[in-house]
Amino acid sequence: MKRAIFPGSFDPFTIGHYSIVRRGLSIFDEIVIGIGHNQSKKTLFSAEKRLEIIRSAFADEPRVKVLIYSSLTIDFAHEVEADFILRGLRTVADFEYERTIGDTNRILSGVETVILFTEAAYAHISSTVARELISYGKDISGFLPPNVRI
Ligand code: ADP
Repeated sequence: MKRAIFPGSFDPFTIGHYSIVRRGLSIFDEIVIGIGHNQSKKTLFSAEKRLEIIRSAFADEPRVKVLIYSSLTIDFAHEVEADFILRGLRTVADFEYERTIGDTNRILSGVETVILFTEAAYAHISSTVARELISYGKDISGFLPPNVRI
């Protein structure tokens, strides 16, 4: 059984995240989406709300599980018995960051990071921009997975 975690803040979960998970299902038998929860970090959506949104996006897919975690990402991977971390890459700016944490995670734990390039149509989509639009009362349905409303 090849299991990966897909960790992130997902504040909110976008169609970019959704696409990475859907495509990841052609590589992994099971993907556990881990919503990183840090008491001291302020988020727009509560961890429970993020859980509800992501579960509704994958209601039709039993191979995707969604959990909240507050431990170190590699400890979360061990807890759910995953040997891989799935991540998405949009830009060169993402690259250096992903390489640094990917290398650190592998050296510390042996857990390998598998990176998928974003679909071009979603390269501009980010949770940060989604939050900004929400703060101005704009509609962000084009940023969200199919059938998800916030
Ligand atoms: P983090 O705070 O850990 O960066 P995010 O919720 O921002 O968490 O992102 C989780 C993962 O999803 C990261 O690997 C990020 O690069 C990837 N990601 C975010 N937006 C997109 C997108 N539009 N297309 C592909 N991957 C994305």
